[in-house]
Amino acid sequence: MTVKIDKRIIGYAVKKAASSEQPASNEPKPVEMNETIEHPEFLLGTTYKIKPPISEHALYITINDIILNEDTDHEVRRPYEIFINSKAMEHFQWVIALTRVISAVFRKGGDITFLVEELRSVYDPNGGYYKKGGIFMPSLVAEIGAVIEKHMKAIGLIQSDEMSDVQKRILAEKRAEFEARNSQPKAEASESGEESGAFPANATLCKKCNAKSVIILDNCMTCLNCGDSKCG
Ligand SMILES: [Zn+2]
Repeated sequence: MTVKIDKRIIGYAVKKAASSEQPASNEPKPVEMNETIEHPEFLLGTTYKIKPPISEHALYITINDIILNEDTDHEVRRPYEIFINSKAMEHFQWVIALTRVISAVFRKGGDITFLVEELRSVYDPNGGYYKKGGIFMPSLVAEIGAVIEKHMKAIGLIQSDEMSDVQKRILAEKRAEFEARNSQPKAEASESGEESGAFPANATLCKKCNAKSVIILDNCMTCLNCGDSKCG
């Protein structure tokens, strides 16, 4: 069959190899996310709290998920809508606009994980801020993106890149070695009042995970948070 493409190609996906086991022809086709799905009576909601310094009050981000093809082999959980609430929402008309657009993208179906990268790469021209634990957020939009990423990892839409136990052990060893060599007494750390899990005071910002956790060990820049390493 010949198909004439008369629109711009704006995306593509590699077709999966046909499974050797063809489903029985009378089996109903699994439902995929699409705009015509009516708002279900039941959605699974998860609420995340963030407290960006640019806002006087905390923001509550709620993502509601829909379960498609429940109790079949094709069961999937997908985000259906997002809401953001705060005591002082009047300052955030653009946040409400953003949530409506994101919800619309959720319902379009297909691969929606691109949203994370798009949002996380938004930089506030006034400069970003540090979250508790030393994670740098380039903007409030980026933090909303980080929450969506966390949620997509939790429901299995994005593969979690959690470190293996071996990687964690190697990092712990590197950190201990670094601290032993730079054995400045602990008094300095307690002065700043930071939590004990924080990274060495002279650690620099990691470009990969945005934590202030990069140290130099044997001429090797190593991130104690995500393990990213560059030797030079
Ligand atoms: Zn890192």
